[in-house]
Amino acid sequence: MPNTASITRRSTPTVRIGHVPVGGAHPVVVQSMTNTDTADVETTTAQCAELARAGSELVRVTVNDDGAAAAVPRIRERLDALGVHVPLVGDFHFNGHRLLEKHPACAQALAKFRINPGNVGRGRKRDEQFARMIEFACRHEKPVRIGVNWGSLDQDLLARLLDDNARRPRPKSLEEVTHDALLESALSSAQRAEELGLPHDRIILSCKLSGVQDLIRAYRDLAARCDYPLHLGLTEAGMGSKGIVASTAALAVLLQEGIGDTIRISLTPQPGGNRTQEVIVAQELLQTMGLRSFTPLVVACPGCGRTSSDYFQRLAEEIQDYLRERMPHWRARYPGVEEMTVAVMGCVVNGPGESKNANIGISLPGSGERPVAPVYEDGEKTVTLKGEGIAEAFKQRVEAYVRRTYEERAVDVDTRKASGAATAPLP
Ligand code: SF4
Repeated sequence: MPNTASITRRSTPTVRIGHVPVGGAHPVVVQSMTNTDTADVETTTAQCAELARAGSELVRVTVNDDGAAAAVPRIRERLDALGVHVPLVGDFHFNGHRLLEKHPACAQALAKFRINPGNVGRGRKRDEQFARMIEFACRHEKPVRIGVNWGSLDQDLLARLLDDNARRPRPKSLEEVTHDALLESALSSAQRAEELGLPHDRIILSCKLSGVQDLIRAYRDLAARCDYPLHLGLTEAGMGSKGIVASTAALAVLLQEGIGDTIRISLTPQPGGNRTQEVIVAQELLQTMGLRSFTPLVVACPGCGRTSSDYFQRLAEEIQDYLRERMPHWRARYPGVEEMTVAVMGCVVNGPGESKNANIGISLPGSGERPVAPVYEDGEKTVTLKGEGIAEAFKQRVEAYVRRTYEERAVDVDTRKASGAATAPLP
């Protein structure tokens, strides 16, 4: 069954982050962040490239000191030399105004600045330093994400709202006032940025919290009160399945309501774990919701007492890995292949049904069944595999299916290119 969402996206201006358009009618963009020392050019370049190759369309790096700021243009150069043109976003706190002044090449190499209004100084200094950063964004014609985080909420603002609240006949709860302060911090900072000369269509907002219900409420209110594109993310989501479930629970509700223009899944990696997991989870969230397509999806049953061995699980994993491995080649050659579904099923109970429903599917024999594995392509049984080498034979069927089905579209695209017809730019 086609899995395309009919979601009405919230109306926003388009903000251009390097070559990536965000907001407007553009698809929701996947973002990630490095966890290397930005001053270490080699390691940070390698991780940016790894994240981009996994599908991250924007990569954020922390710019926390002179070493990091000096490294940014070199990282940009190295990425370009590798053919990786992913826009870099600079994350600034406390000293961003000084770093941008001292390192104009860093400002120029970045495609966007992220400013946390809670971390740019206190009192009068806060206003001056915020204004300096906006001045640099205007000078270098860069968009800005005003990113509020409840863990670093502007304490002066919170104190003022708490004082006002104490004078009310029926004071609000601390949670209510904190919610108000988060929104006020994001919206008043955006207004101030515009007063300082930053164009309306160069501002993105975010308002991150670590509680799922709090996050949903904050973004719903933010979406109702402004038309800036919104970057979604559950902060401090946590490790492993907890982080994935919490992020997905929060972001799926908002995306379903048409809220959100870029997303990041803030997973804490396992020690030695791969940073690209956050990119894969973000892609899978968008794809399973029918919002975008990145890689062919494997439909696999969970297995049960009818599964004769763990061969079925191993095959499902092997096919998933194979599809990911082939995608860089397929993406360039076979437009539309990312929408393909491949079924790998454990027995005849649901196997043939799901296999027929997928573009191509295999149904392995369950316990007590004949040791054969029928393959279905576009709803028709085409071959029955048996014996050793079922996995290899099935991969060959998948490869042939992709060539046969998507080649025609590739020829169409080539013909249009040759005739000079415009093709839609990829984000
Ligand atoms: S398809 Fe067969 S093996 Fe898979 S969960 Fe259903 S009954 Fe069990």
